[in-house]
Amino acid sequence: MATTTGPLRCRWLINAAGLESDRIDGMLGGGGFTITPRRGELIVFDKLARPLPRSILLPVPTARTKGVLVAPTVYGNVLLGPTAEDVADRTDTATTAAGLAALLAAGGQILPDLAAEEVTAAYAGLRAATEHRDYQIGVDEQRRYVCVAGIRSTGLSASLGIAEYVVGQLGEAGLPLRERETAGPPAMPYIGQAGVRPYQDAARIAADPDYGAIVCHCERVTRGEIRDALASPLPPNDLDGLRRRTRVLNGPRWTPRCRRRRRWSSRPAISCTPPRPPTWPPWAAGMPLGTSPPPWAACCRPPPWSG
Ligand SMILES: Cc1cc2nc3c(=O)[nH]c(=O)nc-3n(C[C@H](O)[C@H](O)[C@H](O)COP(=O)(O)OP(=O)(O)OC[C@H]3O[C@@H](n4cnc5c(N)ncnc54)[C@H](O)[C@@H]3O)c2cc1C
Repeated sequence: MATTTGPLRCRWLINAAGLESDRIDGMLGGGGFTITPRRGELIVFDKLARPLPRSILLPVPTARTKGVLVAPTVYGNVLLGPTAEDVADRTDTATTAAGLAALLAAGGQILPDLAAEEVTAAYAGLRAATEHRDYQIGVDEQRRYVCVAGIRSTGLSASLGIAEYVVGQLGEAGLPLRERETAGPPAMPYIGQAGVRPYQDAARIAADPDYGAIVCHCERVTRGEIRDALASPLPPNDLDGLRRRTRVLNGPRWTPRCRRRRRWSSRPAISCTPPRPPTWPPWAAGMPLGTSPPPWAACCRPPPWSG
């Protein structure tokens, strides 16, 4: 197989290329399906909105989509979305005024109080939809080719089941299967809101003061976590990767200090100057390391520098 990094030899080829999977399949003589990106826009509400939904609020699904839902996130926000719109461009992850307006209207019907809440972020993603209802999974024993494509919505939840199914199919097709001898994939650090975060862990801070140095005040991310992410087996390549691993800069407030610290993302390892004593939020100044902040309502709105 010719790749951008040179020729690659393999015993089996698995096509799991998402939005590009039909093109790869076409190169291999397939052509039984075409990916039509189905854009989904989503709105993330501030953590102050979190008490509103007590569970995921989901309308009755249609044949085309499960519909717009209101869901609490593991990070303590509230998510509204997604929309479902077929687009031609496989890179078009822009949000639109119409999409966001439709979301707010749908959200208002599900949970009217949501309309008064502050929005932290809006984003869009593309589902790898095809003209078929089901996933496009097939094993070609003769050519030793596996197609795992058209994994549209539900793909994340179904991923472990899909993997088990494909492994089973490969076994039936004659691939000798054995338990891996090396350790499994590296464990990612816990970054949800429900457990104890490093800034709340006095023992951890005592052992390593970097876990007490909060550098992203909205999301309570510490210098120790950023350092660890950059030194991890799967280090982030860019700011988005760092955000996914640590939550850094995922909050609503982009202060001048946040912008200055963006430069970390391009560094191979942390060599920044220690953060200056924070002036906001108030709980962060002059309090013993490891002290939990007061509830969000007490410290998050409005920051004094926002005018
Ligand atoms: C708006 C939205 C809502 C969703 N809602 C849900 C939900 O509620 N529940 C749920 O379970 N799932 C949901 N999903 C679906 C889920 O995120 C996707 O189904 C899943 O990520 C698809 O997995 P995949 O591995 O097929 O594709 P991807 O995750 O897209 O992976 C494909 C990979 O192939 C790489 N690639 C592409 N072309 C090439 C090439 N030529 N060479 C090398 N690499 C290549 C890409 O870079 C990418 O890393 C949603 C998705 C969206 C966008």
